[in-house]
Amino acid sequence: MSATAQSPVAAGPLDVAALRAEFPVLRQQVHGKPLVFLDSAASSQKPQVVIDAERRCYEEYYANIHRGVHKLSQLSTEAYEGAREDVRRFLGAASTKEVVFTRGTTESVNLVAQTWGRRHVGPGDEVLITALEHHSNIVPWQMLCEERHAKLKVAPIDDRGAVLLDQFEKQLSVRTKLCAFAHVSNALGTVNPVKQMTAMAKKRGAVVLVDGAQALPRLPVDVQDLGCDFYAFSGHKAYGPSGIGVLWGRRELLEAMPPWQGGGDMILSVTFGKTLYNELPYKFEAGTPNIAGGIGLGAAIRWLESKGMQRILAHEDAVLRHGTEALLQVPGLTLVGTAPEKAGVLSFVLEGIHPHDIGQVLDSEGVAIRTGHHCAQPVMDRYGIPATARASLGVYNTTEDLDALVRALHKVREMFG
Ligand code: PLP
Repeated sequence: MSATAQSPVAAGPLDVAALRAEFPVLRQQVHGKPLVFLDSAASSQKPQVVIDAERRCYEEYYANIHRGVHKLSQLSTEAYEGAREDVRRFLGAASTKEVVFTRGTTESVNLVAQTWGRRHVGPGDEVLITALEHHSNIVPWQMLCEERHAKLKVAPIDDRGAVLLDQFEKQLSVRTKLCAFAHVSNALGTVNPVKQMTAMAKKRGAVVLVDGAQALPRLPVDVQDLGCDFYAFSGHKAYGPSGIGVLWGRRELLEAMPPWQGGGDMILSVTFGKTLYNELPYKFEAGTPNIAGGIGLGAAIRWLESKGMQRILAHEDAVLRHGTEALLQVPGLTLVGTAPEKAGVLSFVLEGIHPHDIGQVLDSEGVAIRTGHHCAQPVMDRYGIPATARASLGVYNTTEDLDALVRALHKVREMFG
């Protein structure tokens, strides 16, 4: 149950037909049409091995972790801590002490803002983000800057959705205490040159947090190679359960940070006079966590490893290229986000048709996409639009899925055009 060794990676291109068969949810029809699921940037579907890992935990050995001497507690602890080792290996981290389990990316960013941020960001200091961030990598910094009388600075993007690196560099100063940016934009698909941006920020002495929510399921990630200080991601976008995520942090920074939430498991000893905090990573893990979720995340990580991140990247890239070309043939369609380095997100608008109407007609054709501001309102403001329609890819999507999307978009145009 706690298979912590890395699963072997198959050779050659991905067998996507076989891979699709691993996702029970994809077998269904929606409104009498085969489901075409193009909303994985919001949350991905789960392979059978992840579902089984969670189910087995509850059916066979569930108990609270870390505190029990009995057999089930030991088995649960072993499986949960095995998942931490899976994450460590997947991220290329030096130690499991650097892998903090959280509820997801949002909680990971807030943890850093509320602990490292409160201690190190003071009046007149600056926090630098970019114009393509998700709200969860904006608002925690806004809250921190407001509280600490610091300044939030924003590096702009160009019309294609790429961060203007010269502007980014110019905005860095000796006052920049922290830099936070997405690895991959959920609204535009832009892949940021995070290694380069990190190097720029480090040259100025800033601490760097990378929001890896969209990158982790799509690209190989090695936190030591990136050179950043914190890396955050969510299980539910990476074919794992919801309610579980990770904050990876450099050990020396985590050691020096005060705890965030107080409670069980984050302490060594408690008296009314004084509490001694637990060692890493437990210092940041107060209370009973999402035990089965963590175990499910470990299964998702091993599943990703067994497919191979390079092969996943190559497959998504091929489908993205096909989808980009196919969408551009639809009259009146404009892609929002055409950066040279892009991952599997296709945001678009159709002239004269509200994205919500697009989403509804597509749903009636069995095609699931997302419409709205995608929790990135400043991105929408940058393009002067209230919303986009967004088709986002998962590893199970095929060029046929994108062809089905395009056929359905022609129906939208017939109805509203
Ligand atoms: N960052 C990015 C780029 C995202 O796409 C998302 C979710 O869409 C988040 C952060 C927030 O993730 P979660 O809601 O899992 O905390």
